[in-house]
Amino acid sequence: MNYNIAVIPGDGIGPEIVREACKVLDAVGTKYGHEFKYKEVLIGGVSIDATGVPLTEEALNTARESDSVLLGAVGGKVGESKWYELPPNLRPEAGLLAIRKGLGLFCNLRPALLFPQLKNACPLKDELIGGGFDFVVVRELTGGVYFGERKTMTENGLRKAMDTMPYDENEIRRIARWAFAVAMKRGKRVVSVDKANVLDTSRLWRQVVAETAKEFPEVELSDMLVDNCAMQIVRDPKQFDVILTENMFGDILSDEASMVTGSIGMLSSASLGAGKLGLYEPSHGSAPDIAGQDKANPIATILSAAMMLRYSFDLQKEADAVEAAVNKVLDGGYRTVDIMSEGTTLIGTTEMGEKIAKGI
Ligand code: NAD
Repeated sequence: MNYNIAVIPGDGIGPEIVREACKVLDAVGTKYGHEFKYKEVLIGGVSIDATGVPLTEEALNTARESDSVLLGAVGGKVGESKWYELPPNLRPEAGLLAIRKGLGLFCNLRPALLFPQLKNACPLKDELIGGGFDFVVVRELTGGVYFGERKTMTENGLRKAMDTMPYDENEIRRIARWAFAVAMKRGKRVVSVDKANVLDTSRLWRQVVAETAKEFPEVELSDMLVDNCAMQIVRDPKQFDVILTENMFGDILSDEASMVTGSIGMLSSASLGAGKLGLYEPSHGSAPDIAGQDKANPIATILSAAMMLRYSFDLQKEADAVEAAVNKVLDGGYRTVDIMSEGTTLIGTTEMGEKIAKGI
């Protein structure tokens, strides 16, 4: 099969890590008989320098017309880069929000995967993590309290502020469908997280998720309150397969889930919409402090490319092959500087990409 991928290197370490991910995709193409065609798109600081804005309509259209989008990272050194003298809507990160909105992406996937080889980076005790853990947070991205009506006022000399958290059943159903579809490609278990003992939106959430579950009879569904979930992630992360939750809870829980893996250079992510097109990117930023020094860990971006194979292209065994190749290189004791520990071998961005590509 042929796949057209819009590639967005972006700023800082972005071009280095995306280059390595494309190397790995090419190795997948050679082994499994696919052709990945790349079209480069400018976003962020590089786009500001070239066009005056962080995302042009033309760039957005290229992304829209592709089968999927692979992104490095955007942004410069905040406070030092000239990009931050611009108004907020013209800064590099505004390009990210614009492309997510422009592509209609309402579902964010953040895997929390602890590689057993990197157990030492995990802040949890050994007896809690056992042989590692592997779950995904599926977060609703375009509704809830971040998008509800808000107001700041003064009443009888008292300053007051108010935010609202609206959700309609369609918004809940479409994100629930993604969570169940993701579970079908993994361990077939979904924990839906809400605050149904207090919030009306959560009670509707629970009802609609239960209705949607009927479309996926093979998936086991349970509910959990968000405060309990925050505890369970640090008490027993192994229990989870897919966590489904609304926007604000997901914002907080996905960061907590990332933290317990301990390695920012290993964390992939995906944003998905109604169709197959998705935006795949590492969870970290553009790391301007190490840009251009062959120090960046490309694994988060490579694992994001594996997610693209799995969720946008339905290439399950190809995605497994990428993850297995990452494991093989870690087993061989090779590490970039961010995940280095005693007794392991330090390699750079390029060599890490090459070794993983060779391992396919
Ligand atoms: P950051 O994630 O870029 O870096 C935090 C620390 O982690 C740095 O010390 C960095 O060197 C290290 N690091 C990050 N990724 C790494 C990798 N792959 N390998 C090795 N080390 C890595 O966060 P920051 O410093 O707060 O932000 C830098 C810039 O990135 C800012 O302009 C910020 O706005 C932007 N940013 C972009 C995104 C995105 O593009 N999605 C996300 C977060 C931050």
